Amino acid sequence: PVDRTPEIQVARLKLPILAEEQVIMEAVTENPVVVLCGETGSGKTTQVPQFLYEAGYASNGGIIGITEPRRVAAVSMSQRVAKEMNLSSWVVSYQIRYEGNVTSETKIKFMTDGVLLKEIQKDFLLTKYKVILIDEAHERSVYTDILIGLLSRIVPLREKKKTPMRLIIMSATLRVEDFTQNKRLFPVPPPVIKVDARQFPVTIHFNKRTPLDDYTGEAFRKICKIHRMLPSGGILVFLTGQAEVHSLCRRLRKAFPFRPNSKVEEKQESEEEMKTFKKAKQKKKMTLPKIDLSNYSAMPVDEGDEDREAGIDDEEEQLGSDVDLDLGDDDGAKEDEKSEPSLPLYVLPLYSLLAPEKQAKVFRPPPNGTRLCVVATNVAETSLTIPNIKYVVDCGRVKKRLYDKVTGVSSFKVTWTSQASANQRAGRAGRTEPGHCYRLFSSAVFGDFETFSPAEITRRPVDDLVLQMKDLNIEKVINFPFPTPPSIEVLIAAEELLISLGALAAPPKQGRLKELERAKLSCPVTSLGRAMACFPVAPRYAKMLALSKQHSCLPFVITIVAAMTVRELFEEFDRPVISEEQKMKLKGKRARVVQMQRIWAGQGPSLKLGDLMVMLGAVGACEYAGCTPKFCEENGLRYKAMVEIRRLRGQLTTAVNSVCSDVGLFVDPKMKPPTEVQLTYLRQIVMAGLGDRIARRIRPEEMLDDKWKNAYKTPLLDDPVFIHPSSVLFKQLPDFIVYQEIVETSKMYMKGVSAIEPEWIP
Ligand code: ADP
Ligand code: MG
Repeated sequence: PVDRTPEIQVARLKLPILAEEQVIMEAVTENPVVVLCGETGSGKTTQVPQFLYEAGYASNGGIIGITEPRRVAAVSMSQRVAKEMNLSSWVVSYQIRYEGNVTSETKIKFMTDGVLLKEIQKDFLLTKYKVILIDEAHERSVYTDILIGLLSRIVPLREKKKTPMRLIIMSATLRVEDFTQNKRLFPVPPPVIKVDARQFPVTIHFNKRTPLDDYTGEAFRKICKIHRMLPSGGILVFLTGQAEVHSLCRRLRKAFPFRPNSKVEEKQESEEEMKTFKKAKQKKKMTLPKIDLSNYSAMPVDEGDEDREAGIDDEEEQLGSDVDLDLGDDDGAKEDEKSEPSLPLYVLPLYSLLAPEKQAKVFRPPPNGTRLCVVATNVAETSLTIPNIKYVVDCGRVKKRLYDKVTGVSSFKVTWTSQASANQRAGRAGRTEPGHCYRLFSSAVFGDFETFSPAEITRRPVDDLVLQMKDLNIEKVINFPFPTPPSIEVLIAAEELLISLGALAAPPKQGRLKELERAKLSCPVTSLGRAMACFPVAPRYAKMLALSKQHSCLPFVITIVAAMTVRELFEEFDRPVISEEQKMKLKGKRARVVQMQRIWAGQGPSLKLGDLMVMLGAVGACEYAGCTPKFCEENGLRYKAMVEIRRLRGQLTTAVNSVCSDVGLFVDPKMKPPTEVQLTYLRQIVMAGLGDRIARRIRPEEMLDDKWKNAYKTPLLDDPVFIHPSSVLFKQLPDFIVYQEIVETSKMYMKGVSAIEPEWIP
């Protein structure tokens, strides 16, 4: 029996999923696998675990497990459910990568999908769980997909063992065919239960123009207008990353200050204001245009953009009323910055890495007489529902992890989002009453968005996944029941790389071609491979880490790997230059950076480590100086990159310590430079990870024509490649080198170069 407070009881009863409790629980009793679809906010994440708890799925030591693709959701949902059930975090707990509050009494456990994958590595049958809920399955994150594939096999195994386990796949969209119509995954298609959610109409307002890069500025101006001109109701803003979120929060707080201390005065003032706003609101409610939310998702993609946009604006003018809800575009007018006194804005940030107690603030009502404004990344798109949002401001972009086809290294890039997710964002405005969504891009641009974001697994190399699966003793990865399988070429490329790194045992060299091909796709994992599987970086870098316990190289390798993974340590100097003065300043700065790079690279054995020595030296010097923005600015380093490297160094150090506890590593900001012997080891370690990225300088007798001057030859490419001019080895031209990546501009250039000795090459 659960002892809920009356307040919670009331809130629960309003949720559409409550009406479906019986249907859901019957389906779960009768079917090993159930798919549950319900619009964001319908109550899936908070309520279904409670249904299961009350139905006895956590009795006799069983656990109800829920996976989330995002850490922020795992933490905040466990806290919410604990509160709703009046239970402590001992019982309703969470576990994210290196942090959690799970106890032996835990009955409901929220975790990230990566955590459950690791648990499968330890106990394939997941014996302690009676039911697993895969939440946010529509996001199609790689780990979610892999988990569903694995669970499709674990569930029948548990059935056989007479210790049945249930699987519930939860999605915020109805697009679930990849799970239900995939016979290899589930031979018996699981039933799909749909939960209807109340959704009020949301009016979409497109910008006429699309700001190319200053969308945070555009967002700022739009929020100012909404706040000054439109009736009360919370504002939710979608930006792409933590830094953007903070900078917009700062700007908004400056423009509409909120002082929690001067309570009395403020209350009177704000009550007055509330009255006027209430009036405006009542007036507004009558005239709000009612447009069906489902109407805009099928935006026609046709030519004649200009006309179409004009048409939409006309329509809105007609629907509009005394207050012009279509706020129009802004031309970067500065005046908004100096704001007239206005109702305070209660500005809150929201993003994945925000501390849990700060995240929780968005769910509480804002202080009296203020308007809530949440500035969020796309965590607010489906995983968290913020109450009483009436206005959504959407920059239309999302930060995505992109994978470099050449290096397999991941990087974050800001790209346009999909139509489906833009519509999800808009929907956030219509949870409690009719709302408005202001898109900071034109309808023509929206028409060019892809309809849905493709499953992540089809967008990236899979060497890391293949290694994880082999570590789970899934040898024939090709037969794995992926919801959406990656292409066979991508799988073969992954196995070949892992074989060359020594993570997989090589297939026999003889036999018929077909058999060989097949053998190539079912190589078992080696013990080195198992060690590599423990590190949260791409296999090339994991190999470097796995080797570097020798000769106390670990701190250096961790730093180099962190720096290589973050990439672009140095600022770009190719920005448009306007004045002579600026030109001189840039020139001076560039000269200083080149000088610093030379100093960091050093001479002799140190210079041979090349660009990786520069990385090591730069991180070392920056940390020594306390990693300040000032130091970065003076030395041409990207502050953000340096902060990211610091975070990653900490994370990798923790990972190494948990793999080999005897090392007892810690991140030392005053790291000493490597000795001469260590430098030689470091070059060998780097080469072990980049073993297929070797280049040899063209010998004079091989030089066929001028295009091969100063060129290098690589095993895979016919064309000449060159050391990038930004490399410290650009003028040195060592005979043999390894490189981190090749970028193609006017020529093919190698970046991240280190010299190696010919006798090391096998
Ligand atoms: P779904 O998973 O279907 O998107 P949720 O279970 O997350 O829905 O949310 C159901 C309701 O619970 C929403 O109305 C949401 O606003 C509310 N809610 C969720 N978390 C909290 C919280 N920490 N504080 C207050 N209300 C919350
Ligand atoms: Mg949810």
